[in-house]
Amino acid sequence: MSAIYGAIEAGGTKFICGLGSSPDDLQLCRVPTTTPEETLSQVLGFFTQHKITMKALGVASFGPVDLNKKSASYGSITSTPKPGWANTDLVGVLSSRLEIPVGVDTDVNGAALGESVWGSGQGLTDFIYLTVGTGIGGGVMVNGELLHGLVHPELGHIFLPQRPDDKYSGKCPFHANQCFEGLASGPAMAERWGVAAENLPENHEAWKMQAWYLARAICSLVCSYSPQRIILGGGVMEQEGLLPMVRREVLSALNGYVQHEAILNNIESYIVPPGLGNRAGVVGALELAKRA
Ligand code: ADP
Ligand code: ZN
Repeated sequence: MSAIYGAIEAGGTKFICGLGSSPDDLQLCRVPTTTPEETLSQVLGFFTQHKITMKALGVASFGPVDLNKKSASYGSITSTPKPGWANTDLVGVLSSRLEIPVGVDTDVNGAALGESVWGSGQGLTDFIYLTVGTGIGGGVMVNGELLHGLVHPELGHIFLPQRPDDKYSGKCPFHANQCFEGLASGPAMAERWGVAAENLPENHEAWKMQAWYLARAICSLVCSYSPQRIILGGGVMEQEGLLPMVRREVLSALNGYVQHEAILNNIESYIVPPGLGNRAGVVGALELAKRA
């Protein structure tokens, strides 16, 4: 029998918990994100029934999260504006209560890891997983390793030009209309157009503008990291017409500058949806557990 691992995708609205040995047998359970006490006690409840067989736990968490193993607050959520969650010692609580090793990374690095082992990043050494949802974030694989750097990448907050005809004041509490998330997250779309993103009709001009912003961010990432592929996930990408528009807009914005057939002749395989769909995060957490 193969070893059983625990996995958590810790998000701002829900914690998705999983138990299993691979994506095929992963049993999932959802716990709403309320207070740390309430949420973690429900999460622990799910796992403690299986404590005897679980070898390790992986956590792909919303952030910012301290990933510096030498730091006293390693594995803690640090400065989140989410009420009650700042300075929550996520890894400390889980590892002491479950008495097993706990591996942790950001939610998006986790999703990138899941995609690299089981999804659209298989066989690649350099790619980016980008999620466009309530927030925007990205996991970055470089030379076969997840990129952490000083803290961890914050691709949702790279600065973007505002389209000249867009007068929206922006949604980012730190950068208003100057950054990617401020201009192009789901809540930014909802506030700009007065309708939730999922209710904007397919032919609405919002999608053209959204493709324009996504393409500018992607061009910056292509020029910064030279990824072999870009994986685009998150709720906003569920609008079916958006991905083809993004591909066209990226080609047009790059304007032939980055000369590689993967981009010039194969854009459909260059900018792709996640192979694991919306399970990328929790499946990545499973891999974090295996590596813990
Ligand atoms: P989260 O970022 O909270 O983990 P999601 O990735 O599901 O969750 O993103 C939620 C965002 O995606 C919301 O802003 C919502 O308006 C938007 N969204 C959800 N479904 C769709 C859809 N079918 N089309 C466009 N936008 C959507
Ligand atoms: Zn920002």
